Amino acid sequence: MTASPETLSPIAFLDLPAQQARLGDAIRRRVDAVMAHCRFVMGPEVAELEQALATYAGARECVGVSSGTDAIQIVMMAEGIGPGDAVFLPAFTYTATAEVPLLLHATPVFVDVDPRTFQIDPASLEKRIADVRSAGTLRPRAIVGVDLFGQPAPWPELRAIAAREGLFLMDDCAQSFGGALTGRKLGREATATTLSFFPSKPLGSYGDGGAILTDDPERADLYRSLRTHGEGKTRYEVLRTGMNGRLDTLQAAVLLAKLEGFDAELARREEIAGAYDAGLAHHVTTPARVPDSHSAWAIYAVLVESEAARAALQERLRAKGVPSAIYYPRPLHLQPAYQAHHDGTCLPVAEDLSSRILALPIHPELTDADVARVIAAVRG
Ligand SMILES: *Cc1c(COP(=O)(O)O)cnc(C)c1O
Repeated sequence: MTASPETLSPIAFLDLPAQQARLGDAIRRRVDAVMAHCRFVMGPEVAELEQALATYAGARECVGVSSGTDAIQIVMMAEGIGPGDAVFLPAFTYTATAEVPLLLHATPVFVDVDPRTFQIDPASLEKRIADVRSAGTLRPRAIVGVDLFGQPAPWPELRAIAAREGLFLMDDCAQSFGGALTGRKLGREATATTLSFFPSKPLGSYGDGGAILTDDPERADLYRSLRTHGEGKTRYEVLRTGMNGRLDTLQAAVLLAKLEGFDAELARREEIAGAYDAGLAHHVTTPARVPDSHSAWAIYAVLVESEAARAALQERLRAKGVPSAIYYPRPLHLQPAYQAHHDGTCLPVAEDLSSRILALPIHPELTDADVARVIAAVRG
């Protein structure tokens, strides 16, 4: 006799206990080594991880920092982004991408996204840059390309626009480390790439953490100074206003253990995405692939026909023990915190996606039976 879906235990959207059952011994060995040497701040694991991440991404330099948000802040501080500067970024992303320009008294300028890949739309970007130039109150300064949900932003187009307009280009790769474009791992598409190790990201630590990748050694030195209070060659020489933005040794230790099995996890995520595509293509709009890319599959998001259909689907899934989540229920330009900084331009794609998008569970702890259950529940 097979159990009915109602009697099966719920599937987890993110299963950290199962991950720990699989990796716990390796992680504990790494953590025990830190407990033994007690160099909790900037211990040897930090440099070891930085080297490993740089090698993985093929970048020259890696600087470990305290979070993905702090990574974005350090990169923007290093460029001197501040009052009067316009920073162009997608309206359909996590709030962290937009809050940093405001913390630095610069202005985020929201850009619409592609309706099929959900990535920043180069045509909208060009239009928004032209809007800012013609309004004449802000100075176009930087573009933040966000690699959303595991897939790459349209980097060749973004590089061409940044070069033509004379803008600094950075990559918010918080969700997509491990993804690739034209056979090259993400991490070298822009002047600086920021990573997050928040536990729900594809490569997650056991707390907050982040990193910055760059091929520019001078910028890397500046990032290292900024993450430690703007220090100079010696500890008590303060060259600039900085932050307490270091990556914890314990988090670096956890990440070193997890990096070993990371490619196998990415392969499993890819397998699950393929199964969802095959099982769901005739029932919902499955996510389009950015051409010539590999996704890190942080999020597998489908589209349904309306907000009401999404609510009904979520309810049906919940009843069958299948979790789902909405990334993002409201585009940033319509958030209370950012509305006052927005020029009122309608960004129709971001607004439409917010009402129809739904993320299904995708993580390496899902079994084939779990995946089949998700597919059956969506098909109803
Ligand atoms: C998670 C995330 C961040 C912030 O990372 P934290 O480590 O949580 O500070 C920034 N940008 C995007 C797109 C994210 O998804």
